[in-house]
Amino acid sequence: MKTINLSLKENSYKIYIKKNIFKNVAAHHFSYYKKSKAIVITDKNVAKLYSKKLISCFKKYNIDIQVVEILPGEKSKDLLEIKKVAEKLLKKEVRRNDIIYALGGGVVGDFSGFLASIILRGIKFIQVPTTLLSQVDSSVGGKTGVNTENGKNLIGSFYQPSAVFIDPSTLKSLSQKEFLAGYAEVLKYSMINDKKFFLWLDNNYKKIVLKNSSIMTTIIENCCIKKAKIVRQDEKELNYRMLLNLGHTFAHAIEKELSYKVRHGDAVSVGLLMAMKLSLLLKKTNLKNYNLVKSHLEKFKLPTSLNCLNSKKNWNPKKLIKNMQSDKKRVDENIKFILLNDIGKAYIENSVSYQKINLTIQELLND
Ligand code: NAD
Repeated sequence: MKTINLSLKENSYKIYIKKNIFKNVAAHHFSYYKKSKAIVITDKNVAKLYSKKLISCFKKYNIDIQVVEILPGEKSKDLLEIKKVAEKLLKKEVRRNDIIYALGGGVVGDFSGFLASIILRGIKFIQVPTTLLSQVDSSVGGKTGVNTENGKNLIGSFYQPSAVFIDPSTLKSLSQKEFLAGYAEVLKYSMINDKKFFLWLDNNYKKIVLKNSSIMTTIIENCCIKKAKIVRQDEKELNYRMLLNLGHTFAHAIEKELSYKVRHGDAVSVGLLMAMKLSLLLKKTNLKNYNLVKSHLEKFKLPTSLNCLNSKKNWNPKKLIKNMQSDKKRVDENIKFILLNDIGKAYIENSVSYQKINLTIQELLND
C-alpha cells in the first residue's frame, strides 16, 4: 500500500492508496476506534455501487456501522441538507468518539467534512474518495463546506480528516465525463509547478483516457504528494496554498453563473485556459504555452470555451467579473489571480485591470 504522510502540527494524517482498500479501512477502524460507531455518509449513486462492500468489510470486525445517503450533486452542498443529516445522526445517538466516513466524490467529502466539524462541536472523519477529482484533490487538505446563494463554498471550515483511503479501482465505475472533469485538477497540479509532469501527462494521454490502472495510481500518488507538500507549508491558505486555486477564480464565477449546473472540473478546464489567456495578455507567458495547454485540453475532450460549457447561455462578462468580486479569497478591492510565467511556474497576481479580465472572457467566449 502506498502511504503519504501529511504532517501538520496537531492534525497530521496519512493518505493510503491501494486497490480494494475497503478491507484496510475496516481494519484501521478496528485498530484505532474499536469502540466507536462507523457512520458512512455517501450519495445514492455511490451507495448503490459500494455501500454493501464497505459494510461487509466492517461487519467482519463486528463494528457497528450506519449508512446515511444524500442526493448526488452540488445541490446537496446546502446548509439545510447539513441540518437534516445532523438531526438524523443525533436521533441515532451519534457520540463524540464516533467516526464519519465520507464515501464518494467531492460533494460527499465537502459535506461530510463540514458536518463532522460542527456536530457535537467536532468529531473525527475519514475520507474514502471515489471520483478522480476527490482522489487527487478535495479529499486532502481539510477544506470543507457548502454553497450559498452568494457563491460557492462560502460557509465552511478548515477541518482535516483523520485519514484518507484511496482505491483507484473505484474509477472504473465512474462515467468518462466525470473522470475527465476530475482530470482538469490533475492538469492544474502540473501547470502550477511541474512542467515535466505536464509533458508526461501529454505523452500518456491515451493510457489516461483509458483509465490504465498503473498510470492512474501513479497520477493519484503524484498529485497527493504535491497537495500534501503545499498544505504542509500553508494549511490555512494564507499565501502559498493559493496557487492551488489556479483556474478557480474563473471556474467559481462560471459555476455561479450556471447555478452550479456544471461539473466543477469542466469549469476548471475553461478556468485553466482563461488563466493562460490572461497570462498571455499580460505578456507573462507566450503563445506557445497557451497553445500547448489548449491542445492538451482538446486531446482530453475537455471544454475550452464558455460556449463549450453552455452554448445557450448569453454570457455576460460583467456578471462573471461581479461573481469573481464576491469570491471569498478576496481580501481587498483587487481580485487575486493565479497566473503563469511558464507551464509549471505559477504565481499570485494581486492586481489585474478590469479591462484585461474583460478581454480574457471575451476571447474565451468561443473556441
Ligand atoms: P461529485 O461528488 O458530485 O461526484 C460526481 C458524480 O459521480 C456524482 O453523481 C456521484 O454520485 C458520482 N460518483 C462518485 N463516485 C463514483 C464512482 N466511483 N462511480 C460512479 N459514480 C460515482 O463531484 P466531484 O467532481 O467528485 O466533486 C466536486 C465537488 O468537489 C465540488 O463541490 C467542488 O467544489 C468540490 N471540491 C472541493 C475541494 C476541496 O479542497 N475541498 C477541491 C476541489 C473541488
